[in-house]
Amino acid sequence: MGVRPLDLLDLDGLLTDDERDVRAQARRVADDHIRPDVAEWYDSGDAPIRELALELGKAGLLGMHLTGYGCAGTSSVSLGLACMELEAADSGIRSLVSVQGSLTMYAIWRYGSDEQKQQWLPGMAAGRLLGCFGLAEPDHGSDPTGMSTRARRDGDDWILDGVKTWILNAPIADVAVIWARAEKGVTGFAVPTDITGFQVREINHKMSLRASSTGEIVLDGLRVPESTRLPGVRSLMAPLSCLTEARLSIIWGVLGAARDCLDTALDYAAAREQFGRPIASFQLTQAKLADMAVELQKGFLLALHLGRLRDAGDKPLRPEQVSVGKLNNVRESLKIARECRTILGGNGIRREFPVMRHASNLESVLTYEGTSEIHQLSIGQKLTGLNAFAR
Ligand code: FAD
Repeated sequence: MGVRPLDLLDLDGLLTDDERDVRAQARRVADDHIRPDVAEWYDSGDAPIRELALELGKAGLLGMHLTGYGCAGTSSVSLGLACMELEAADSGIRSLVSVQGSLTMYAIWRYGSDEQKQQWLPGMAAGRLLGCFGLAEPDHGSDPTGMSTRARRDGDDWILDGVKTWILNAPIADVAVIWARAEKGVTGFAVPTDITGFQVREINHKMSLRASSTGEIVLDGLRVPESTRLPGVRSLMAPLSCLTEARLSIIWGVLGAARDCLDTALDYAAAREQFGRPIASFQLTQAKLADMAVELQKGFLLALHLGRLRDAGDKPLRPEQVSVGKLNNVRESLKIARECRTILGGNGIRREFPVMRHASNLESVLTYEGTSEIHQLSIGQKLTGLNAFAR
């Protein structure tokens, strides 16, 4: 048995004991509660998300980087390492954790009133309550500045009109953070989903992220009280800041999927013989393995750098810094998954191996939270001073 890819540079030595403990905890949850059944959930498109959320909550992995309200208050690097372990099992489950902690809980934690925080955060940290984050719309995905969902004041209430689509967890959420345009600019609401008139249509038959639940939220004159409005929101910068925060968990998470593919390919290449010897002994296979190991380690160093930057400051990272990480790590992880698939030959497309499932999941991750093209444009704008995606 050779050295595992991330051991080549002794990268573990860059982590603290606390960070390694959090990683071990997340790995236990993945090994005990996700890995044994995830292929089956993927096949059926039906994961037991509520039960999983309780396990994730018990392990302190939901909203873990937030402070107070039952949240663990860990570093951002610890959150990233946990996401890496969860995504090594499946991107859908890591997405559940990111939507819950880094998008929905973060929005309420940063922009909500104390009553809203008390109402939602402890239950969400424990995994008893699930949240979703409604920003994307059928006609406005990459370009949220065009948002057409409207919030209109009516006495003590607000009336919401619009459609939010591709919303992870929407069919099973207890609270939906909804972003809408009001007279004075974009505002946000933490809407209990049991409120009269709240409608969700499940998006079925996805070919990717099948161990997750996704839906479309239809707001047809939905009346919500003023107490649901997030008082700290002033503009579109609020949902964008949540995305910047959540992208860190993606930058780390995808490395888990890539690592799992590479580990699988290494084991397979050592065992599989063609032309009378293991395919791992062929130079072309070794070149693939070496290139992938190099990219995996570069991705890890990039994630660690961004995580340490985030932990050193009291503000979110700058958007273009996060764009560097999301663009590189998702793109390279997807390339690794595809390359590992070739090493497994025909077996690469079987359910018994996780490689095709990871590759297929990473196609979604490439698109959500800013497509690769949008992150290229964000970096390009910083480099040139010219905004290529302005209307
Ligand atoms: P479009 O915006 O229509 O883009 C299509 C293509 O055009 C892309 O390649 C894009 O890069 C390219 N493009 C667009 N504009 C430009 C430009 N100016 N220059 C160059 N190329 C451009 N949203 C939420 O709010 N909450 C969620 O929980 C959530 N979960 C999701 C889960 C999944 C599985 C998926 C697939 C999506 C999810 N989304 C969610 C929505 C996601 O954020 C959007 O799909 C994403 O922003 C892209 O929008 P779009 O699909 O409308 O594609």
